[in-house]
Amino acid sequence: MSEVNNVVIIGSGPAGCTAAIYAARANLNPILVTGTEPGGQLTTTPEVGNWPGLKDNPSGFDVMQNLQEHAKSLGTVFISDNVVKASVKDEIKEITLASGNILKTKTVIIATGAKARYLGVKGEEEYKGKGVSACATCDGFFFRKKDVAVIGGGSAAFAEALFLASLCNKVYLVHRREGFRAEAILVDKMNELVKSGKVEYVLNATVSEIKGNGNTVNAIVVNQQGNEREIALQGIFVAIGHSPATELFKDELELDKEGYITVNHGASTQTSVAGVFACGDCQDKIYRQAITSAGSGCQAALDVEHYLM
Ligand code: NAP
Repeated sequence: MSEVNNVVIIGSGPAGCTAAIYAARANLNPILVTGTEPGGQLTTTPEVGNWPGLKDNPSGFDVMQNLQEHAKSLGTVFISDNVVKASVKDEIKEITLASGNILKTKTVIIATGAKARYLGVKGEEEYKGKGVSACATCDGFFFRKKDVAVIGGGSAAFAEALFLASLCNKVYLVHRREGFRAEAILVDKMNELVKSGKVEYVLNATVSEIKGNGNTVNAIVVNQQGNEREIALQGIFVAIGHSPATELFKDELELDKEGYITVNHGASTQTSVAGVFACGDCQDKIYRQAITSAGSGCQAALDVEHYLM
């Protein structure tokens, strides 16, 4: 494509969609490249209980469907494709898609989010998709009435474990410390399930191995303060946080040592390269909420508008 666009947005989570809504309303005719998981991380959250104004806990999938429909209704062009290369240092930037198409653009908004982290223990890679998952909403259904473990002590681990407790026979919540980062409201709910025996906390415990019969998982081995314990189960859900999806930009933009895109925090969403802006979880390791991502998407679109003027 030889046409030079005003703005190409990479990513279709809360940050990317909000940037698209604002850019479309500013008559910038935004193009949004969705990536392989349209809607991003939020689509795998069973209930969103903290999006202002939505008190009935809609699913993350529904929230993202609405956001995408909103952006489309204002004229954003959605391209269902993956970006394989981004050359952004020149005034006219080139975004290469997996299909081979190249988008030329004056500005880029990067809203690529973050990807689930895994444990890196023996058996994990072998059993991915055969009992090892990082998404209870996606895969929990396959473990109805079975025993599963969730690894992690943050809100994601708690949200996943609460969801799984409604489907599974028993849920082990395995966490490397005794204290939890998860929101108090989630911990309170979980404590009730622990009392009823539906959930068991396995604390001060690290997973050392995932075992299986060659086809499916049948146990995990945890090291609990020096003692090894084998827990028989059929599923393991890893919820230990995310890494920013910024690999594409490592030679183009300044990233911090954890791989997050460096932006002009507090002042703008400007990256180290003129005309390139970043929003959402690819640049945020502190707040990481859907609503803060959406807020930074709004800022990125306003920054683009200002830059183009
Ligand atoms: P998080 O808050 O960073 O928690 C990650 C958890 O994984 C921590 O408990 C951490 O342990 C543990 N962990 C990290 N690396 C580990 C390793 N190698 N082995 C074992 N355990 C490891 O991440 P998150 O839960 O994904 O949440 C991310 C953000 O999204 C947070 O701001 C959270 O509030 C938000 N969120 C909210 C909801 C909700 O329903 N409100 C749902 C999902 C996410 P330590 O505590 O020991 O470091």
